[in-house]
Amino acid sequence: MQKALETNNLTPKELSRLIICKKCATLQKKIVLENNTKAICTTCKSTLYRKHYDLLDKSLALSLSTLIFFIIANLFPIVTIDLGGTISDITLSSVFLTMFEEQFYFSAIFSAFVIFLLPFTLIFLFLTLLIFMKLRIYEEAVKKMLVFLSALLPWNMVEIFLISVLVAMVKLIGYAEIHFGVSFWALVLFVLFDLYMSKNISMIALWGLKENIYGK
Ligand SMILES: [Zn+2]
Repeated sequence: MQKALETNNLTPKELSRLIICKKCATLQKKIVLENNTKAICTTCKSTLYRKHYDLLDKSLALSLSTLIFFIIANLFPIVTIDLGGTISDITLSSVFLTMFEEQFYFSAIFSAFVIFLLPFTLIFLFLTLLIFMKLRIYEEAVKKMLVFLSALLPWNMVEIFLISVLVAMVKLIGYAEIHFGVSFWALVLFVLFDLYMSKNISMIALWGLKENIYGK
């Protein structure tokens, strides 16, 4: 890697060989990495990107597991609340359906988006493009999906939802008996896998993988 660069008068090809550091916003020159190594910023020493030995297979296994946890999290109650003999099962979908019935339309739509629509779209996109890459088919579609994925990722806040569920549960302790269902643990695993994936599989690595598979 070399020192922070100036971008004046660079051609698109030269620009494509550069990468911006997310921490300190300086431009760095991309280098070819060996397997299981990482490139660090010359200015602030933070990690720019990594090269994993079997990124495609690992990502496929991870996203398949994430999808399974997501399905389980949606199938059964996340918690059962016993409020003085009145027992209610809370499922993920009941969270936004109840808001809708109570006419909190904006909150209902927003939580349906955060809890269901966005996570599902992300895993679906991720899994589909990985399968396409594995089979070496539909390069154009993979490209479009990668662009769409980059646009959606910043909106991924399912872990915030999990934290708010936990806060709500803590507030209920003392008033009601709370039993965590299988979907709660599936939701926890889903969030952990989701966090692991977003920490370890960068968009840059996926673009690199695409270039390796289909050529530049
Ligand atoms: Zn930096």
